[in-house]
Amino acid sequence: MDEVGGGIRRVTLPLPTRPGHVHAYLLPGDDGWTLVDTGLGLPDARERWASELEGLPGRVARIVVTHFHPDHVGAAADLAELTGAPVAQGRLDYEQCALVWGGTDWAGVLVDWFHLHGVPDDVTRELVEQGSVWRPFIRYQPDPALLDPGDHVDGWRAVAAPGHADGQLTLVKDGILVAADHLLDRITPTVGLWPRSRPDPLGDYLDALETTITLDARLALPGHGEPIPDPSTRARELIAHHHDRLAVTEAALGAEPRSAYDVSFPLFGDDLKPAARRFAVAETLSHLERLSLEGRSRRVEDDRGVTYTSPE
Ligand SMILES: [Zn+2]
Repeated sequence: MDEVGGGIRRVTLPLPTRPGHVHAYLLPGDDGWTLVDTGLGLPDARERWASELEGLPGRVARIVVTHFHPDHVGAAADLAELTGAPVAQGRLDYEQCALVWGGTDWAGVLVDWFHLHGVPDDVTRELVEQGSVWRPFIRYQPDPALLDPGDHVDGWRAVAAPGHADGQLTLVKDGILVAADHLLDRITPTVGLWPRSRPDPLGDYLDALETTITLDARLALPGHGEPIPDPSTRARELIAHHHDRLAVTEAALGAEPRSAYDVSFPLFGDDLKPAARRFAVAETLSHLERLSLEGRSRRVEDDRGVTYTSPE
């Protein structure tokens, strides 16, 4: 555990995949600490947290989950049990959390969806299996207190930051932004289109980055990597990055209809492991859908699936 300013403490937890770690934060308050994010529910998550919290002066008063991705929500139920603290999670985010991790045939939904977007059957199998490896490490807390954007948590304001996840929430107070995976230093947060999600995640993300600039925070605390001393500049860099990627995506289209799977090759290269290809397809789609909304690509859906061409 280390201090990152303003009395805030950071706990760094291991991840078996890149980037190899995830941060949780402890925000100080009069009635105890607000713990933001929980790490992956690895088999030893509870013991690890017990030892992390051992020397902490005061109790954990509440737990906030910023979004439902495995490395943020995974150990929520362990922590609730360990600390006795209530868990709060965004309303939309919890809905998606329960949908994806809560026993729906999500693998079946993904198979249909990858198929719709041109992924060959044998590759689809690999991509869907990649998602299922996380399932044993997710113990989310059922029936959390539901947060909406604009709500306050012990003086911190919840700000919607959709894009990386539809229901991603950040917390802001006194110029400090607890950014989770909305803003990362050096790494570009993934912005993918997934089934049963909002239709234009990249458009959402670009808007959310503009909102971040208006917050004019002096420090952002991300879910991965080091604190970001100038969040507005980082937000502008990420906006520029996605405008570049949109141009590259547009250039990959022509008269011949191409699926998101096809286009993911010129965008992300030929040589990707299944886990990376899975994100590449979703990320390609978020860019293709944005281009369609801007009139820079044409989307066609027929019984063979969804393809895109240049508008002319
Ligand atoms: Zn995430």
